[in-house]
Amino acid sequence: MTVYERRKNIGGLLRYGIPCFKLDKALIDRRRKVLEAEGIRFVTDCEVGKDVSAEWLKKEHDAVVVAIGTPAARDLKIPGRELGGIHLALELLEGQNRFLTGEITEAPINAKGKKILVIGGGDTGSDCVGTSIRQGAASVTQIEIMPKPPDERDASTPWPLWPYMLRTSSSHKEGCVRRWNLNSLRFIGRDDVPPASACVSGVEVESVEWEFSPEGRPMKFHSVPNTNEVIEADLVFLAMGFTGVPAKNPIVSQLKLAQTTRTALVADPVRNIFCVGDCASGASLVVRALASGKLLQI
Ligand SMILES: Cc1cc2nc3c(=O)[nH]c(=O)nc-3n(C[C@H](O)[C@H](O)[C@H](O)COP(=O)(O)OP(=O)(O)OC[C@H]3O[C@@H](n4cnc5c(N)ncnc54)[C@H](O)[C@@H]3O)c2cc1C
Repeated sequence: MTVYERRKNIGGLLRYGIPCFKLDKALIDRRRKVLEAEGIRFVTDCEVGKDVSAEWLKKEHDAVVVAIGTPAARDLKIPGRELGGIHLALELLEGQNRFLTGEITEAPINAKGKKILVIGGGDTGSDCVGTSIRQGAASVTQIEIMPKPPDERDASTPWPLWPYMLRTSSSHKEGCVRRWNLNSLRFIGRDDVPPASACVSGVEVESVEWEFSPEGRPMKFHSVPNTNEVIEADLVFLAMGFTGVPAKNPIVSQLKLAQTTRTALVADPVRNIFCVGDCASGASLVVRALASGKLLQI
């Protein structure tokens, strides 16, 4: 069995997304040694679709398992997005991971002494909070467009459903302001620097109110008049989820893979092509990715 990986190191989001304070990267190195001892070969720095074609892989191997994750992050295309200092969450997290593991000598984005705004209230946002705090941010604020979930499991998600409820991570406990029901309208630039080097200085937001389904799930929001305000920020991190696998990904066209309406990849067992992990399920969790690999019947 051969694994082709476009990065310098294997591990995907475990290595480059999840911060070192949540997952010690030595565990991935240890696992790689175990897998190699079992006979698995790793070919790194090799992007399928560019360095080798997916068609070639298909001819070379009896079966192909596609496990490319969900590389496209959701962006926030509001006025001012072109300003400096606005980054997708993974730009911060990957840079810090590569720095801490010695791949690069300096983190490309550094929150030290800066006012940080994280847009997106989920786990990736929480990792940006923890990373910013560790880099020495002056302040960290995390905002979310959705309403604040209840403190206890909501009646709309009885066991065994994943409970809809407020989650507070260790990063949140380390010190950040969390706010909900805020819609971002535009990024505002600093006016003390020339336009070519214009950097963000804040985000104009408005409060929103949600309409709920009979089961208690938030369905639709509308703006609350006269609630606009500016949240100051020297750096903004966008942590609003991932949008699946773009149809233009060469692996999709070269292997002629079908996609669901949510752009997840659909396996084609008749041709011995299988899809596992986030690329098949949408952005999810490590255990689910592992389980989908283990349940493969090739
Ligand atoms: C910031 C962050 C924090 C998270 N924290 C947690 C957590 O605490 N707990 C948890 O359970 N889950 C967490 N997750 C989710 C978890 O990381 C993913 O569900 C899991 O990594 C999915 O595994 P995967 O193998 O499907 O995809 P990935 O981990 O994305 O791996 C895909 C791999 O394919 C490679 N690849 C892509 N295209 C090509 C190509 N053309 N050629 C060669 N290689 C290619 C990529 O470089 C990558 O190595 C987190 C996710 C993020 C973004």
